[in-house]
Amino acid sequence: MNRKKSSELYVEAKQYMPAGVNSPVRAFQSVHDTPFYVKNAKGSYLFDVDGNEYLDYVASWGAIILGHAHDGLIDEVKTVLYEGTSFGACHPNEIKLARLIIEAFPSIELLRLTSSGTEATMSAIRLARGYTGKNNIIKFKGCYHGHVDSLLVKAGSGLATYGIPDSKGIPEALARCTYVADFNHIDTVRNIVRENKDIACIILEAVMGNMGLILPEKGFLEDVQDICRQEGILLVFDEVITGFRVTYGGVQHIYGIDPDITCLGKIIGGGFPIGAFGGKKEIMDMIAPLGGVYQAGTLSGNPIAVRAGIYVLEHLRKNSDIYSSMDNNIERLKTQLLQIADKFDIPYKINHITGMFTGFFSENNVNDYEAALTSDRAIYEQFFKLMLEEGIFFAPSPFEASFLTASYGEDELIKTTNAFEKVFKTLKGTI
Ligand SMILES: *Cc1c(COP(=O)(O)O)cnc(C)c1O
Repeated sequence: MNRKKSSELYVEAKQYMPAGVNSPVRAFQSVHDTPFYVKNAKGSYLFDVDGNEYLDYVASWGAIILGHAHDGLIDEVKTVLYEGTSFGACHPNEIKLARLIIEAFPSIELLRLTSSGTEATMSAIRLARGYTGKNNIIKFKGCYHGHVDSLLVKAGSGLATYGIPDSKGIPEALARCTYVADFNHIDTVRNIVRENKDIACIILEAVMGNMGLILPEKGFLEDVQDICRQEGILLVFDEVITGFRVTYGGVQHIYGIDPDITCLGKIIGGGFPIGAFGGKKEIMDMIAPLGGVYQAGTLSGNPIAVRAGIYVLEHLRKNSDIYSSMDNNIERLKTQLLQIADKFDIPYKINHITGMFTGFFSENNVNDYEAALTSDRAIYEQFFKLMLEEGIFFAPSPFEASFLTASYGEDELIKTTNAFEKVFKTLKGTI
């Protein structure tokens, strides 16, 4: 595969942006490769500047669910463009998007829109601290909640990839306010709570998507909820990835949990910058100008992002078969991929839920952070490069989820399994 123009662009990009990118994982550093440059995208595919085509399992890190450049979405956005790109004032569609989200998430009574998931989690933490009057928070190893200071402690994703436990530039005093527990190990939560009475909230990805996909074990989320109720700790669900992906609604709907605050992003903007956080009225009433917790945004509720979000949510609500179809496709994909792995005797495990999955090159089932770390990075690196050569784009890191969209069908399934067969055969020869 010729990637000459991409290589030239990357050399140029590095003159203007750190590592040439606007978000670290895009640099392909953890797989020791360099990025391709996207010219355009359609349906399940990305097309690069050298004329190569890639079946896209990254889907803008889960933000895309109807498929790239969805015709109906484009038509909607075109009309709002002529009405103005930002008002800095109220407009009716904000109400409509808020209502759609609240109808889908019974735990949310009031919500506020932001321009990114990071802003949503940052604001949720401040709100939890403001509401409870307590300072510390608990997060889980490998959960990523955006690049918020207090949440960049044992975060997964790009950070797990690079083996950086933390980020520089975060005051120790602040990091010390964040306690880190182990996902699926409730005792680690109990131990922290027993020793520390100053906990404002527990924040988690209830289905972990940033350490690869890890599902909560039976009873784990209920136990976390019980501890929160008993101790007067707020439960914050970060559903930035899972909201409207794992079902219309989110993980809380599937597991029957009632968090105090929920954070959203990605899908609800249809590929435009967005985030949201919301929860119980009594808590949300603390937000300025009603209450003393300050939160604001010049582009919050941006008319284009909001209109795109409305289109996506209404489309998903009307076409719930999208979820069953993604489910069905993942089940079939899983069966076939595991058969291929078995045939070539390569340790490979797949975790999945509707709309997303992760394949781990690991001997063991992956149900926690430590198990995810046993996934073989060297094999993943080869796998990533070989799959890319076959025109299939998986995330350039072993600790990410792969995403399906509504545009994913039979052709994509066949293309993937054929490439797997070829790539696993090659891998077998090298390990
Ligand atoms: C992507 C993500 C975020 C951050 O959202 P941004 O829009 O990138 O700021 C937060 N939490 C989770 C679970 C995410 O996957």
